[in-house]
Amino acid sequence: MSDGSQRILVTGAAGFIGSHLCEALLARGDDVIAIDNFDPFYDHAIKQRNIEGCLSHARFHFFQVDLRDGDALEAYWRDHVGELDAIVHLAAKAGVRPSIEDPLGYERANVHATMNLLQQAVAMAKRPRFVFASSSSVYGNNESIPFRETDPVDHPISPYAATKKAGELLCHTYHHLYQMPIWCLRFFTVFGPRQRPDLAIHAFTRKILAGEPIAMFGDGTSSRDYTYIDDILAGVLAAIDRCAGYEILNLGSKHPVKLSEMIATIEQALGLQAEIIRKPMQPGDVNCTFADVEKAARLLDYQPTVPFAAGVERFVAWIRENGRN
Ligand code: NAD
Repeated sequence: MSDGSQRILVTGAAGFIGSHLCEALLARGDDVIAIDNFDPFYDHAIKQRNIEGCLSHARFHFFQVDLRDGDALEAYWRDHVGELDAIVHLAAKAGVRPSIEDPLGYERANVHATMNLLQQAVAMAKRPRFVFASSSSVYGNNESIPFRETDPVDHPISPYAATKKAGELLCHTYHHLYQMPIWCLRFFTVFGPRQRPDLAIHAFTRKILAGEPIAMFGDGTSSRDYTYIDDILAGVLAAIDRCAGYEILNLGSKHPVKLSEMIATIEQALGLQAEIIRKPMQPGDVNCTFADVEKAARLLDYQPTVPFAAGVERFVAWIRENGRN
């Protein structure tokens, strides 16, 4: 557009990361074409609340569309989408453990739907830049630490991880065939206000507040490279603007936190002690995630800025203010 603003389509717009991204794009003056199907993985009302602030914005155009339905997507595209500068594809069924219960559901939502979207994108007269939400889970139980984008990722250990790797492969294929610029961003466990209720920080905080016990899987030494939502957003915004060719990039915080330390940090932020029930490690869960973000620093000027404890404090403040129900 002549004023420098862009027209950007965001899938999964009503989700945790998607709703924050829509707000950030609107704040910098972009037009946002937003899609979500309100997948029942978690409560519709939460997702509705996530996008409430955007809905009244003149530059925000929301449609409930299911990316799994190729015909419906094509009709929507024809009637509503118009020219685009970029697509950010966040829509997915997320979560490792539920993917073991419903592998075909994950395949439809994460692979089939991604292909439907790529088909629409490459059919456009001016092909948009395409940013795909991949995941640290593609590294499986990678032995070399920290995880680098050049490490082999041929051994995913959950259906979810396999669908994310499949998404990266599809992105490469469509980039190769149609020269569409595509960057795949491997997010490392994202947290902050509006975090998905199934994720550990959110679930634990709620339970501790309610005086209920929490289940700790394993001996507490498994670790995650938790990344605060604002850092992820900075990386995604830069990727939207700079995307050229095909790249895979880690977006993490490069500071893995042990599960026991994560629980202690939440306890500290809440001023409450957790009642912990020990359980065995869950199938599909990896032992550790740890991002090397040198490539993201180089290509995106990415620098994670929010330390874990500060992020947990902000999350707890949010849950106290908004998230109790
Ligand atoms: P989320 O579940 O909050 O958001 C995903 C959104 O996609 C939901 O609102 C859902 O309704 C929508 N959606 C699902 N299937 C759809 C379909 N068929 N058509 C249209 N919309 C559909 O999840 P999130 O945590 O915000 O994750 C966003 C993306 O980032 C996902 O692709 C996820 O795999 C990826 N990711 C997230 C994390 C994390 O820690 N949150 C880590 C790695 C990767």
